[in-house]
Amino acid sequence: MANPAECTIKVMCRFRPLNKSEVARGDSYIPKFQGEDCVLITGKPYYFDRVFQSNTTQEQFYNAVAQQIVKDVLDGYNGTIFAYGQTASGKTHTMEGVLHDTDMMGVIPRIVQDIFNYIYSMDENLEFHIKVSYFEIYLDKIRDLMDVSKTNLSVHEDKNRVPYVKGASERFVCSPEEVMDAIDEGKNSRSVAVTNMNEHSSRSHSIFQINIKQENAQTGQKLTSKLYLVDLAGSEKIGKTGAEGTVLDEAKMINKSLSALGIVISALAEGSNYIPYRDSKMTRILQDSLGGNCRTTMVICCSPSAYNESETKSTLLFGQRAKTIKNSVTLNVELTAEQWKKKWEKEKEKNKTLKNTVDTLESELQRWRTGESVPEEEQFDKEKAKEEVQAVENVLNHDKMAATPALGGPPGVQLQGPGGGGTSGAELSKLYKEMDDKDDEIDQQSRLLEKLNQQMQDQEELLASSHRDHDKLQTELNRLLSENEASKEEVKEVLQALEELAVNYDQKSQEVEDKAQEFEALSEELNQKSSSLASIDTELQKLKEMTNHQKKRVTEMMSSLLKDLAEIGSAMGTKEIKVQQESTGVIDEEFTVARLYISKMKSEVKSTVRRSRQLEGAQAESDQRLAETEKELAACQLLTSQYEAKIRSLTESVQILEQKKRQLEESVDALNEELVKISAQEKVHAMEKEKMQSANEVKDAVQKQIMSHREAHQKQISSLRDELDSKEKQITELQDLNQKISLEQERLRAEHEKLKAADQERNRKLQELTGIQDRREQAKQDLKGLEETVARELQTLHNLRRLFVQDLNTRVKRNVDADCDDTGGSAMQKQKIAFLESNLEQLTRVHKQLVRDNADLRSEIPKMEKRLRATVERVKALELALKEAREVAGRDRKRYQQEVDRIKEAVRSKNMSRWRTAAQIAKPIRPGQQPGAPPANPGVVRPNSVQPAGLRGGGAGGTPAQQDKSSYSYDC
Ligand code: ADP
Ligand code: MG
Repeated sequence: MANPAECTIKVMCRFRPLNKSEVARGDSYIPKFQGEDCVLITGKPYYFDRVFQSNTTQEQFYNAVAQQIVKDVLDGYNGTIFAYGQTASGKTHTMEGVLHDTDMMGVIPRIVQDIFNYIYSMDENLEFHIKVSYFEIYLDKIRDLMDVSKTNLSVHEDKNRVPYVKGASERFVCSPEEVMDAIDEGKNSRSVAVTNMNEHSSRSHSIFQINIKQENAQTGQKLTSKLYLVDLAGSEKIGKTGAEGTVLDEAKMINKSLSALGIVISALAEGSNYIPYRDSKMTRILQDSLGGNCRTTMVICCSPSAYNESETKSTLLFGQRAKTIKNSVTLNVELTAEQWKKKWEKEKEKNKTLKNTVDTLESELQRWRTGESVPEEEQFDKEKAKEEVQAVENVLNHDKMAATPALGGPPGVQLQGPGGGGTSGAELSKLYKEMDDKDDEIDQQSRLLEKLNQQMQDQEELLASSHRDHDKLQTELNRLLSENEASKEEVKEVLQALEELAVNYDQKSQEVEDKAQEFEALSEELNQKSSSLASIDTELQKLKEMTNHQKKRVTEMMSSLLKDLAEIGSAMGTKEIKVQQESTGVIDEEFTVARLYISKMKSEVKSTVRRSRQLEGAQAESDQRLAETEKELAACQLLTSQYEAKIRSLTESVQILEQKKRQLEESVDALNEELVKISAQEKVHAMEKEKMQSANEVKDAVQKQIMSHREAHQKQISSLRDELDSKEKQITELQDLNQKISLEQERLRAEHEKLKAADQERNRKLQELTGIQDRREQAKQDLKGLEETVARELQTLHNLRRLFVQDLNTRVKRNVDADCDDTGGSAMQKQKIAFLESNLEQLTRVHKQLVRDNADLRSEIPKMEKRLRATVERVKALELALKEAREVAGRDRKRYQQEVDRIKEAVRSKNMSRWRTAAQIAKPIRPGQQPGAPPANPGVVRPNSVQPAGLRGGGAGGTPAQQDKSSYSYDC
């Protein structure tokens, strides 16, 4: 009688199109299709549930093959889809396709999409919990693709004895996108973990598992289902794709799961009692899918190329074998308490029936045993009993179907819950459990073994490499020692150079001092010059006063002269000749007075001119001196700037030397450290060797010692570092100081510059003054011209007077003669008067001109005076500024000198301390030796030898005083 729950595995055959290389090769297309379920290869027909030709689209294939599975799974049945076939036959194309391409996507993404679509259209009372797992099986090891750290998962059985992958990551998902994300992630981690993805995927099985749990909120009905989507490894023999690099065992392992699948399928097809599911992990996982509680579809993927004919044929045969496998599918339902109760009662009923049967049989047996013959009609009717049991079972099944009306009448139901089979079943399950546990243990042990093997290999490699390193380090050590020597020499040289530099620096500072003194002397000279200039100014002032005075006198004289002349004129014009005669004596007198005045004026003017010439000479001289002073000043400035540059270059060179020295010190440090490391490594090697041979105790002791030495050494190094740091700090401070000094110098230079500018300003003023002097000179000359004119006028007057006197004399004579004859005299007189009048007119004009000139000159005088006053004031201010600047410069110079002294002192003390530091650092390079001696057998480990002498304390290392002495004697 056919079991309604029984169904065969569906086998679908799919041929891919010829690929490019096959077309290029000219391979023939061998399959011939007959109807929807038959394919002929070289005339031999192969029948399947359906055969898909090369032009089948992904959608068509999905609709025909996988769509139903979604419904089944959501109805509470387990489902599996396998893709079987040789490499490149289209397994992955069928299962996955192009994941995010709506046309080219394969079965998995479509199923995912459909599951959710279906759920959305279902009863609102249903609640779904969907979780997915993704793993691959390679070399019979299960690797979790959602957690790459899980590389070897084991298979266990649950309480219903359904195998599952223990410890596999499960991800709850709520949407198709989340499932696709999980797939993407898994694929990504799969490709990241391997070097050749194509090769790897052709040798590994990938299994995507979807677990669905649904609960009806109204009825409390719970259904569970599993869906396995399996992309198997290439079914071809390993030899064909080439398993280069894989050893035989590995090749065997690669084939193991697939051959186990073949064996399981053959055993199932033959109806064998023992199915070797446990031969591989894959068959274990898929136990339910192969002859168990699952609706299984196998897609056999084939190549149509003649080249792959034999593989295609074996694939088709495999498919045909698989087609005969029968699964018994049941609904995975979890019963409610009520249902359990009913089931128990029914089972009780069934049990009663069976008990009755047993009783009947026992009584019949008893009768037979006692020798009684039992008539046929009284004998046990097997068929009747079976029917009775069947009737009870049918009632039971009917009740269950009634319990899940929404699920649409399943052919069989697997009731999940506590309890199990009989005693033998329990034992078996116990044994299986034990086996699983043992499996786990074996796994763990093998993992451990592998790890240990790896460790062993690592250790060996480490040993070999450390040997090599040791040799290398030995040579390096020697080299470093020699380098160290060389560096020490260099350090010494550098120190010497530093000392020379310091001496040089002293010399330079001395020179700077000298120059500063010179500068001071020059400034003093300048001071003197300016004072002389001031005296010249006062002289000039005096001269001016004198000139003014003389001018005044000249004008007074002129005015008196003019007055006299006017009087003369009036006397001539108005008074009688008699009066004139009387006044002749007075005029004579006046003329003599005037002449006297004029001669006096002449002599005064001459002396003034001489004086002014003298002054001019003095001014020229002072100008010359000023120019010389300036020249000297410029030279001094040049010298100062040169010295400054020199100082700067010296400071720089000192800095460079400092840096070099620091580098050398650092290299010495590094060398020391390396030395210590090397000796530590030597010790480690020795210890390793010893460890291999001798007991662990020694090792520990040695390690401890090493640790202590290392610590001590570290401590010393750190203290040395600290010291070095402090020195560096000092150096930076000194550098800062130096910089400050240079800034000060800069400032001084700026001030010097300012002074120079002031000096120039003064020179300009001097020039202005000279200009004023020149103008004064001009005025003097004008005055001289005026004097000459006056003299000429006076001469004319004198001549006129003479003429006048002569005329008067002749007139007097004539009057005497012409006492009698008084006729034509008046005409002559008139003529003379006219002549005199014209002369007077001329004189008046000249006088007017003179007065105008004088007024002009007078108006010029206050302006000139004002200017002179301003100039004097300016000169005074400049002098004051110069004095101040000189004072400031002196103060700065003194400070600068102090700073220089301080730096020199600091540099000297630093050098001293450095020498001391170098000596202390140099110590640990030669553990347990006299400084300067070559290393004594560096290959031998001596626990105490690493310890620097400075840290050894009072024991073998001698007193600290001795150590100090030795360190000094070494370096100094
Ligand atoms: P397998 O997973 O079996 O090793 P693949 O699925 O990777 O093989 O297929 C190999 C190549 O053949 C891929 O490039 C794939 O796109 C192509 N291919 C496979 N099957 C088909 C098909 N039915 N139609 C078109 N191309 C296919
Ligand atoms: Mg593939």
